[in-house]
Amino acid sequence: MYYNPDGVMIGLEVHVQLNKLKTKVFCGCTTDYHNDPPNSHVCPVCLGLPGSMPVINKKAVEAAIKVGLALNCKVEELTQFYRKNYYYPDLPKGFQITQYEFPISSGGYIMIEGEDGEHRVGITRAHMEEDPGRLVHEGTIDKSKYTFIDYNRSGMALLEIVSEPDMRSPKEARRYLDKLRNIVEYLDVFDGNLEGALRVDANISIMGGQRAEIKNITSHKGAERALLYEIVRQKNVLRRGGVVVQETRHFDEAREITISMRTKEEAHDYRYFPEPDLVPLKISGWAPAIKETLPELPDARRMRFVEQYGITDDQAKSLTGEHEWAEYYERVLKMYEDEYGEKINTKFAAAWINDYLKGEINYRRMNLTLKTSGRSYDMMHIEYTVAILRKVLLKEITDDAGVVVYRKLFDDPKGGDYYRPVRNTADTAENYIMKTLEEKGLLKVEGDIVSTAAEEAIKENPQAVADFKAGKEKALNSIVGAVMKKTKGRADARNVREVLMGMMK
Ligand SMILES: [Zn+2]
Repeated sequence: MYYNPDGVMIGLEVHVQLNKLKTKVFCGCTTDYHNDPPNSHVCPVCLGLPGSMPVINKKAVEAAIKVGLALNCKVEELTQFYRKNYYYPDLPKGFQITQYEFPISSGGYIMIEGEDGEHRVGITRAHMEEDPGRLVHEGTIDKSKYTFIDYNRSGMALLEIVSEPDMRSPKEARRYLDKLRNIVEYLDVFDGNLEGALRVDANISIMGGQRAEIKNITSHKGAERALLYEIVRQKNVLRRGGVVVQETRHFDEAREITISMRTKEEAHDYRYFPEPDLVPLKISGWAPAIKETLPELPDARRMRFVEQYGITDDQAKSLTGEHEWAEYYERVLKMYEDEYGEKINTKFAAAWINDYLKGEINYRRMNLTLKTSGRSYDMMHIEYTVAILRKVLLKEITDDAGVVVYRKLFDDPKGGDYYRPVRNTADTAENYIMKTLEEKGLLKVEGDIVSTAAEEAIKENPQAVADFKAGKEKALNSIVGAVMKKTKGRADARNVREVLMGMMK
């Protein structure tokens, strides 16, 4: 059965900022402006001053071709830039340089996890354009007394990726966005942690009705919510016997509603015409060489992880679903081997990183990687993870104790020293772990301490001992519990069981 209970058709237009490039798309201004004052990285070209001439950034075209190839698109023979004419304060020259006919690439697809298994979403086209400036309102747009304009963003290279209306639910739309973001991060052309890096316009129609366009969605969650809202709204219109009109709606993220803008621009309103200052580019010859440089993409990496490391598909999905986690996992494996001269249990490492480190980082609403001034740092220094894994594997510490060390590192009031590329103390990571656990009274106990506690527990629980000896295996649990209580939970339960069973033979 083909899944589509509501007759929903969703297509997305995603604007991806190619923010890993060093310079903007038509001038030499830097793209690294996020920590700098407004209007500090501008020039006559990106300010749109009369007489200034754009020069195409070759690296931007290459990055756009790379994305097209990764989306299984056909790279066009020839590509050309157009002027899209409209005026808005963030676009002072009165037109945006974009593409119209002859985009960079077209006719591709990506696979997502759909409502009924693997699902293919067609990519209509991917074309380049320039980002406008950014308007900053004091408070909300309707109450603001004045508006600032920051042109640092003006002229950033954007890639607009237009999909076919192949998504059949808001959840599929969100998965598509996750996958798309994942792919452009793998390609190293995009940093999704930067503000405004990915913006979405959505087209949606239900039950063959007219489509509505929802503009200006800035998060994956926002896209899912806006679409859910829109489906309910359109269904209500239809239920009342009304007609869903073709219109443009604006998503208000704060209020989580879509608002009609009562306008629907047509292509001819923009009076597109070829940009006379930029010659058409013959790019068909570029593709083969760029194809050679394509890195391993998320799906391929997931399959390799399952095959090479013997981990489950779910674990591989979780690790490869974000580029930084896949990298971190493989770096941990390598560092462990370098440090200890033996390979780590790859399944154990995958489970640990997914369950404990990722759990802790998600709980704190952080990202694994911190990017600042063009450099990136692990929020959890890899040496700590490797050392914790070693100690847990050698049964020197428990899983829970490992998590306690993570929490202490994250909570460290010294403020983030741990993510710098050096250790946060003169101590080795191993010493730090042991000291932390000692301070917290969490160092694991074994040997004599466990034996003594076991002997006491046996003496104090004669009934349970008798039951166990009579064949009631469950009776052992209460004696193990008694030992754990005596050792304040610092003994390893499996070890305690073995010791007890040896004593009660
Ligand atoms: Zn500039």
